[in-house]
Amino acid sequence: MTPEMTPLLPTDRFRFECGEAVPCFNACCRDLNQFLTPYDILRLKTHLGMTSGRFLGEYTVIRTGPQTGLPVASFRQEGAKDHPCPFVSPSGCRVYSDRPSSCRIYPVARLLSRSRETDQTSAHHALLKEAHCRGFGRGREWTVAEWTENQGVAPYNEMNDRLMAIIALKNRSHPGPLSLAARHAFQLALYDLDAFRTQVFENESLRGFHLDPELLEQAKTDDEALLRVGFHYIKKIVFGTDAEAREAAQ
Ligand code: SF4
Ligand code: SF4
Repeated sequence: MTPEMTPLLPTDRFRFECGEAVPCFNACCRDLNQFLTPYDILRLKTHLGMTSGRFLGEYTVIRTGPQTGLPVASFRQEGAKDHPCPFVSPSGCRVYSDRPSSCRIYPVARLLSRSRETDQTSAHHALLKEAHCRGFGRGREWTVAEWTENQGVAPYNEMNDRLMAIIALKNRSHPGPLSLAARHAFQLALYDLDAFRTQVFENESLRGFHLDPELLEQAKTDDEALLRVGFHYIKKIVFGTDAEAREAAQ
């Protein structure tokens, strides 16, 4: 059933509570159609102490967006008929401190729009009410800012906004499906960070690519810095006009 969406202004308040006391506990962690952003994957694989390659192989499927050709990661659905999330347990989420952004922010939806004139993006919010969710009208009242602060959404928003900027750039500069090589580069640099690190530091695939040396040094051991490098790489080499760097990277 399509969720009911109500626009939320910064001053609007909603009453909501989630936890073991709600009668629908864990109901939202089944029958998933849950997309995972690069930052979701980074947090989950770190939480589980796995390489990105192993995490992607065990817990995700990557499909190709039919219109865009972009790789889209989502949780692999378990065999049970109600398709539970691989991390749901009777006592709740097994990866709670590093759960994906969409799990965190629910029941709020964050929508980005970009001005054609200024190229600036702005965020709007809405309250998403799904029939199975019984958390509404319980607990305390929240504004969007209070809820997102309480759920630790800020670092996810920052990285997810970078992803959205790249997708907007792709749609402007490369409308239609991506080439296989560009799709592979996107998947490597944004989803499979451990393999990307090998490419960058052992195979020197960023040779000739001008990048903040401090960020690059940090990226040797810090996955968040490496993901920032990945965003720069995709933006400039795959979707941008950095032809010199593109040649150097081949
Ligand atoms: S990651 Fe956690 S909160 Fe999100 S769907 Fe899975 S079990 Fe539920
Ligand atoms: S369905 Fe709603 S209230 Fe119930 S566990 Fe999920 S988010 Fe919480």
